[in-house]
Amino acid sequence: MNIPFVDLKAQYKSIKTEIDDSIKAVIEDAAFIKGKYVRDFENNYANIYGVENVVSCANGTDAIYIALKALNIGHGDEVITVANSWISTSETITQAGAKPIFVDIKPDFFTINSYKIEEKITEKTRAIIPVHLFGHPVEMDKIVEICKNYNLFLIEDCAQAHFSKWRSKNVGTFGDAGTFSFFPGKNLGAYGDAGCIITNNNKLAEKMRMYSNHGQLQKHAHEFEGINSRMDGIQASILNLKLNYISYWTKLRREKAEKYSELLSVCTEITTPIIHEHAEHVFHLYVIRTPHREKLIKYLSKKGISTGIHYPKALPFLNAYKSLNHDSKDFPVAYEYQSQILSLPIYPEITVSQIEYVCKAINTFYIEKIYQV
Ligand SMILES: *Cc1c(COP(=O)(O)O)cnc(C)c1O
Repeated sequence: MNIPFVDLKAQYKSIKTEIDDSIKAVIEDAAFIKGKYVRDFENNYANIYGVENVVSCANGTDAIYIALKALNIGHGDEVITVANSWISTSETITQAGAKPIFVDIKPDFFTINSYKIEEKITEKTRAIIPVHLFGHPVEMDKIVEICKNYNLFLIEDCAQAHFSKWRSKNVGTFGDAGTFSFFPGKNLGAYGDAGCIITNNNKLAEKMRMYSNHGQLQKHAHEFEGINSRMDGIQASILNLKLNYISYWTKLRREKAEKYSELLSVCTEITTPIIHEHAEHVFHLYVIRTPHREKLIKYLSKKGISTGIHYPKALPFLNAYKSLNHDSKDFPVAYEYQSQILSLPIYPEITVSQIEYVCKAINTFYIEKIYQV
């Protein structure tokens, strides 16, 4: 059996006719950049998500950058974020001119330890960017309280967590802005790059809209300099269509994750994902922890099973952040976990027999102590 890490072709096949028609319509209308399809998607996403404004842009990295710029965060400022994420989260802080200040993750979870934030706050701190990593929401209560008490902006990186909920409330709606990626492999994926920012602040939405389109709302009325970060009509049209399926696909992801956890529960050497009692996990990734990771990867690969690591090095330990002089002791949990984490194949279309095959391989690896050879 061959089990890919993600299978975007399977999803395309399941809705092929509708997708092909929707792409054709955009081309026939020549609505390539912004335009009617983008407006439709923004309106639908705002309705379904339950927010006032959706500002589309070119990708999820730009979404964070645009939010930071629209909040006037830049030179001399510090922005607090989490040690374990994709580099977009911290890269954009630097691009905006500010300095990323990392906080360790919480044991058992892969998200920011909200009880370690306050010790990192200085008079330069302007914002916090928590990341709802792997689809599990960050524990937002403490962070919302800190942002209020210290007068900090709150930008949630929701790139991996479309429709994930904390205490029944959608992620991205707890603070000033929520940013999304629609990269093809994300839970809601386009057929190229795309992203958006959500906010209930109308003024901020207008500023973000302008910033993403050369500082103009109306053509040629450039109120300030911005960037060119816009969504394509074709991507918007595909995303709009996929919105009809997202809750079904999310349900399937959750069911598939549950199946994994059930079948792997016999194996005491690995830790399966823990779901907080107030969390609704949308399982962008299904991440286990094991002390025998490299041997397990090799063994699974021989069985035709693809896996991933998210991420092999936590952000502070990347060469890109060498100048910050961080040490493993600064982020002990992120440091410990980076050598143990392993992402197993998960997507709505993965079958139960595929999951059984993966779990049987993992369980055999431990029962037969193959890691000793
Ligand atoms: C994917 C991702 C991004 C960036 O999204 P792109 O659309 O690829 O630019 C940002 N943050 C996190 C946590 C991501 O997983």
